[in-house]
Amino acid sequence: MTNKKVENKYADYALKLKIDCKNCSGLCCVSLYCTKTDGFPANKEAGIPCAHLGSDYGCSIHSKLGEKNYKGCIAYDCFGAGQRATQLCLISGTWKTNPKQAETIFQTFMIVFQLHQMLWYLVEAFELTSDNKLKTTIDELIQENEQIAELLPENDLKTDLSAYRLKVNTVLKQISSTISTNTSAGRHSDRMYLGKNFKKANLDGNDFSMSLMIAANFTGCSLKKTNFLGADIRDANVKDTDLSESIFLTQMQINSAIGNKNTRLPDNLSRPAAWF
Ligand code: SF4
Ligand code: SF4
Repeated sequence: MTNKKVENKYADYALKLKIDCKNCSGLCCVSLYCTKTDGFPANKEAGIPCAHLGSDYGCSIHSKLGEKNYKGCIAYDCFGAGQRATQLCLISGTWKTNPKQAETIFQTFMIVFQLHQMLWYLVEAFELTSDNKLKTTIDELIQENEQIAELLPENDLKTDLSAYRLKVNTVLKQISSTISTNTSAGRHSDRMYLGKNFKKANLDGNDFSMSLMIAANFTGCSLKKTNFLGADIRDANVKDTDLSESIFLTQMQINSAIGNKNTRLPDNLSRPAAWF
């Protein structure tokens, strides 16, 4: 990395929050409930391995996911929770080598996923704010996040993240409100922008958090400090678009959008293979 992320004291988290499927036991392909309508190969219950999961815990049709249009598989990103949960539980085996532990392992994965997702936003929030009081609060929340994770898997059943999530959301809202000052896109109270063509608009500083923006067209828009926290941008057109200064984007959002080799991304995100 070459620019702004290097200055962040939490820059190391970029690696920790990146998927590392080789050190995972295919947890997403087993533990999650999947449906064909969400772009997975078949409907399947949580805890049942996908029929395409190989004996090495890898996807046996990985190179064909695009051709088969399995958008759910292509988009999924666990924020690095899969490898961490696998390693945390490895002393007692994997879900396959020790089926008695499978439920505990899946539960650990679900908790770590939520912790890592919140970490992802906290790390970016730390970078975005210059308010020292807020920075201290974020420091404390990151420490608390690590302390919760350290007690897994033993504390699985006792872990209730609702109070912690509330604190994280409060900080993210505070930061969003200081950054998102533009309403040029028109504030839709229902946050519905399905298929909207933004026509090369200047959307700098707009708050699109939690908006439904499936198949929206952002080509040629200016998107500096545009807040995409939790926005659904599946099939949104971001070809030839500069997202490098947009905020609160995740890898899963990017994987689900339609970009190309000219799309610019924030430093903490990777270009999907299909965009080259
Ligand atoms: S859970 Fe994460 S690390 Fe594991 S296989 Fe799925 S995406 Fe990869
Ligand atoms: S097709 Fe591959 S990536 Fe998709 S759920 Fe099955 S094993 Fe996982």
